[in-house]
Amino acid sequence: MIELRTPTEIEQMRPAGRFVAEVLATLRDETKVGTNLLTLDRHAHDMIRKAGAESCYIDYAPSFGSGPFGKVICTSINDAVLHGVPFDYTLRDGDLVSLDFAASVDGWVADSAVSFVVGTARDEDLRLIDTTQRALAAAIATATTDKRIGDISAAIADVCHAEGYSINTDFGGHGVGRTMHGDPHIANNGKAGRGYPLRDGLVVAIEPWLLATTDELVTDADGWTLKSADGSRGAHSEHTVAITADGPIVLTDRSFLGVD
Ligand code: MG
Ligand code: MG
Repeated sequence: MIELRTPTEIEQMRPAGRFVAEVLATLRDETKVGTNLLTLDRHAHDMIRKAGAESCYIDYAPSFGSGPFGKVICTSINDAVLHGVPFDYTLRDGDLVSLDFAASVDGWVADSAVSFVVGTARDEDLRLIDTTQRALAAAIATATTDKRIGDISAAIADVCHAEGYSINTDFGGHGVGRTMHGDPHIANNGKAGRGYPLRDGLVVAIEPWLLATTDELVTDADGWTLKSADGSRGAHSEHTVAITADGPIVLTDRSFLGVD
């Protein structure tokens, strides 16, 4: 069921969006060559505790995972792209890192993800990341009340296809509200002009992700982490966006923190 939020409810969602933005900006800033993934998870846990927020991940146990997630952030490294479980790994020069974080503040959820390289970046990794960022920006620009879900999907696909990437549609965007995942599903590829109309008050997470040279995923032995089938690297960009009659509001925007 698709739920629409009143302007008051969208205002109530802002603290969750700001908190998720702050956590991602903080973690991104401290993620360097030599950082251990478990340290990042612990820091996020501390921030959740101090803010009186709630993790959306730690007890999360959907059909596509194996039992409760057990951590509060997703850290997907190199050939991992989604749902990466933090483990005892120390980042090396040139690692491509995707951090995905969702939390609930005052009963409202926000969900956001960012990819970047630690140390010396390879051009092909920067192009992959940049494409997911531009796809997200194009999708957000399309998230207006005269459009439909398919317009968001097509906006993402147009940017990714122009760069020659293929798109996996097994995982994509989703409604966000009191819980992390609601209707509608937003595939990262689709037909413009089709699907549910974007109504005033619809709040969604939009999340283009790509693998460099495949659209096939495999599940890691940990039962959660999704990796490319061919070992190529992945990138992921996500924001929670409120669609309103006055235009889209990016609830998880990090620009007020001076970072992208
Ligand atoms: Mg997410
Ligand atoms: Mg999401």
